[in-house]
Amino acid sequence: MDQSYDVIIIGGGPAGLTAGLYCARARLRTLLLEKAFAGGQIVNAERVDNYPGFPEGITGFDLVMLMQQQATKYGLQMAFAEVTGIENKDKYQKVVSTTDGIYEAKALIIAGGAEHNHLDVPGEEELVGRGVSYCATCDGAFYRDLAVAIVGGGDSAVVEAISLTKFATKVYVVHRRDQLRASKIVQEQAFANKKIEFVWNTVVESIVGDAKVEKLKLKNVKTQAQSLLEVAAIFVSVGVHPYTKYLKDIMSLDEEGYIVTNEKLETDIAGVFAAGDIRTCSARQVVVAAGDGATAAIYAERYVAGL
Ligand code: NAP
Repeated sequence: MDQSYDVIIIGGGPAGLTAGLYCARARLRTLLLEKAFAGGQIVNAERVDNYPGFPEGITGFDLVMLMQQQATKYGLQMAFAEVTGIENKDKYQKVVSTTDGIYEAKALIIAGGAEHNHLDVPGEEELVGRGVSYCATCDGAFYRDLAVAIVGGGDSAVVEAISLTKFATKVYVVHRRDQLRASKIVQEQAFANKKIEFVWNTVVESIVGDAKVEKLKLKNVKTQAQSLLEVAAIFVSVGVHPYTKYLKDIMSLDEEGYIVTNEKLETDIAGVFAAGDIRTCSARQVVVAAGDGATAAIYAERYVAGL
């Protein structure tokens, strides 16, 4: 199989799929590489209410499936493999190493998104899948009629807390401050929900349980008081980090590991672009990721045309 392309896109979330749509419509021979399942983080969102064009909202899964359908209709090719490295041979040739072999392209768009942060407390790793979860939408239904906790104060944690109330008898939101980071409309919904109880100024010190989660050891950061909270599950929703370890020696990353780009979404390697949550200063919204994908594709097309 000829593994050489005009453009290779790394990552199949909204940024990558939109870049794929634009590149395919520009009649560039384009391959999108995705580790496992296209869609990115938003695939787990039960409802997306802030993507324009869907006044009744849409599930994250349906939204990305429509994006994929639209991009492949115009000729975007997709392959499933994990990218392990990229090499800039020269301005005409970038080499992408994957778990499924080597691919080459004239231009690359890196749209690998971000992955969940962990709490890194005792018990977390041992009890993953046995009460410790990073996705309330995926695992919430397992805890019907039980009390659960979610850690974090951002949009993800609060939206997921609301969705967990469909199953759980009680949802504790454990947050390290006394103010939420989540958007106001989401906060209002959570404060009005009687099943949600906020545990302010509190961190999880450890997760306790033998075969499954039984309780959380908590500490109030203001008073230093420790306490135990009995729950059947803990959902960890404390933000994300970019998967860019394989890029750190070849391009500029910011101190948190996000790829540094200019307004054209160019990285400091000519012909390599970055789009979506993986780039520095992204607003981390689906619509922004999609916009980034379009911008990166337009400048990638110009780059390829200029060679
Ligand atoms: P986020 O906005 O970065 O929030 C992470 C939360 O976790 C913060 O409240 C933070 O506390 C807390 N946190 C971080 N590290 C922690 C630790 N080690 N221990 C305890 N708590 C910790 O992340 P996110 O909620 O995943 O959202 C990511 C992006 O997606 C955001 O831009 C968000 O707006 C967007 N998003 C939007 C929607 C929507 O409906 N529009 C839905 C989901 C996500 P502090 O507040 O103290 O820093």
